[in-house]
Amino acid sequence: MCCMKGTFPTEKFRGTKTPFYYYDTDLLRRTLETIKTEMDKQPDCHLHYAVKANANPKVLRIISQAGFGADCVSGGEMKAALAAGFPAEKIVYAGVGKSDWEIELGLERGIAYFNVESSAELEVIQEIACRMNTTARISLRINPNVGAHTHAHITTGLSENKFGISMDEMHQVIEMAQSLTNIEFVGLHFHIGSQILDMNDFVALCNRVNELQTQLERQHIVVKNINVGGGLGIDYQHPNEMPIPNFADYFRTYRKHLSLRPGQQLHFELGRAVVGQCGTLVTKVLYVKQTSLKLFAIVDAGMTDLIRPALYQAYHHIENLTSEEPLQKYDVVGPICESSDVFAKAYEMNACRRGDLIAIRSAGAYGEIMASQYNCRELPVGYTTEDLA
Ligand SMILES: *Cc1c(COP(=O)(O)O)cnc(C)c1O
Repeated sequence: MCCMKGTFPTEKFRGTKTPFYYYDTDLLRRTLETIKTEMDKQPDCHLHYAVKANANPKVLRIISQAGFGADCVSGGEMKAALAAGFPAEKIVYAGVGKSDWEIELGLERGIAYFNVESSAELEVIQEIACRMNTTARISLRINPNVGAHTHAHITTGLSENKFGISMDEMHQVIEMAQSLTNIEFVGLHFHIGSQILDMNDFVALCNRVNELQTQLERQHIVVKNINVGGGLGIDYQHPNEMPIPNFADYFRTYRKHLSLRPGQQLHFELGRAVVGQCGTLVTKVLYVKQTSLKLFAIVDAGMTDLIRPALYQAYHHIENLTSEEPLQKYDVVGPICESSDVFAKAYEMNACRRGDLIAIRSAGAYGEIMASQYNCRELPVGYTTEDLA
């Protein structure tokens, strides 16, 4: 097994209360630069960062300062995005269950558009926009019935999923949108899932969008924006070798396979690929426990700090930052009263002692934001490189 370790300010970590998240803001900035460089190869291409991956205010601010927009899935996320400096006209808002106050907030602040997921929702947005004497720009989230080769819990673009409007219904809902007085139809939206590494899944989405566009053209329906969502995965196995995802391949896939119409804008909503690799959960070894069957490294972080392993059997690369002892196999577990509170089983790392600092890598996306206070625990704090300088 590879034992290359990341470089961390370990001395600063020693003086910091564990567990905590550490965000390598230099890596985040390089990742954002790479995305810009690759996106600039195509005109009228925009990224709305998916806030749900990580809404740490310092992380959000760096992304907004880089000029990107925000993709929100709740009123709380819209507030967080606005507070972090994302201009309202660069905010889009999706979600199958938008509450009235969330729709009102979006209209009040004048966000770019709502990604509408049902005709029932469209009627409510019309009602509220009418009452507020304004016009709601909307995109329709279409369920393209395209699978993604990823964990079953994180596919979203299949007919069986709750998301979006079916392709059969699409024409009818567009007609409805065009007939409503306080609704402006501006685009189509898709999102097929998360942690997708097989570019063929995105090719399948492109082909489906092309088909739908051909159908709409026959009916002289004009679509201003095509929003293809996010979903690009990261290399959880090799955070040191692949700290920046292959954005060149990703954007090239869309350039090559998606036929845009003249003047049409292309929108992306990447989350995980933007922030995943820059985050590390830092935790301390409390006890090394030998049983008749196993050797456990019991750490002070648990599934309340990072739930992905318990929720999706997700793999995270783990390093002992303060040991160069020979490799040993451990079940790395937390203190929570749940048998699923396991970060890794039979995981090989430098031999542990009480007090060693352990880095759980690639934890920048769907990590801190999913933390809970189960067992009355404190929420983990998120520090940036600058905070610990
Ligand atoms: C979660 C989500 C995204 C981002 O997904 P990633 O896999 O993190 O890139 C984008 N768009 C929508 C609508 C989402 O729900």
